Amino acid sequence: MKKIDQGIAFVQANLGLFRCLVCDQPYEAIDGHSLSCPNGHQLDFSKKGTLYFLTHQVQSEYDAAMLAARRRILQAGFFRPIVDAINAQLPAQPQRILDIGSGEGTPLADLLALHQQPKDIGIGFDISKAGVNLATQLPTSAYFCVADLAQLPFTANAFTAIMDVFSPSAYREFERVLAPGGRLLKVVPNSDYLIELRHLLFEPTDRQYTYDNDRVIDLFKQHYPAAEQQRIHYEFDLSRVDFADLMVMTPLHWGASAASLAHAQATGLPKITVDVSLLTMTK
Ligand SMILES: [Zn+2]
Repeated sequence: MKKIDQGIAFVQANLGLFRCLVCDQPYEAIDGHSLSCPNGHQLDFSKKGTLYFLTHQVQSEYDAAMLAARRRILQAGFFRPIVDAINAQLPAQPQRILDIGSGEGTPLADLLALHQQPKDIGIGFDISKAGVNLATQLPTSAYFCVADLAQLPFTANAFTAIMDVFSPSAYREFERVLAPGGRLLKVVPNSDYLIELRHLLFEPTDRQYTYDNDRVIDLFKQHYPAAEQQRIHYEFDLSRVDFADLMVMTPLHWGASAASLAHAQATGLPKITVDVSLLTMTK
């Protein structure tokens, strides 16, 4: 089956989850390679079967090299304990899962593989078209599209679970698309996240040397006072390839100097700490 036909088949089977961003009505039909709403607004499927819901150009920070590096290190299991913890929070019944800022798609594909419910429905979206295109290459039942978290192209109560790994939040939109009893699972970095790399690249006087997530966690708990918080802390062994991928995937947009990047590349790291909080809210 061609990618475009796979994408159309997925959306056809789950038409009620998608809404038209022009008039806010659920889509009602697929004509040929276009989705159409009751008011005649149409949206074309891409050759890869994805849908492009952005109404304005959004700058993505991910280029092809960063996405490829992310794909390799995530496939090597870099975030697997995080996905395990998310899976442990899901009921052992079929879920409709939305991945916020799904990037190249590995965490959502891994979650569906772990959850082992053939009737699970997984949708990931990202503002990065290159990320979404890379995600469509994964052997997974998940569907990927290009969208903005501030304006979700999904209907009210569409999902029973929302996962948000290191992406920003739009709580009003999340609450709208989350069904009653559904879970919001948000992963934020803790102060020890990638600490070895921070200390390799920066001086104690640099802003990036330390990290604190108090503001993000406080905001979540203000919105959801009954939220649960779980710490996930582990060390990931780095091969030389993993280390090179980690360097491409993270530090460039942290603003490390060329000299400290060169020093870090020559030094390398045998392992790296992953330290995150999983915040869970049940609607
Ligand atoms: Zn419409």
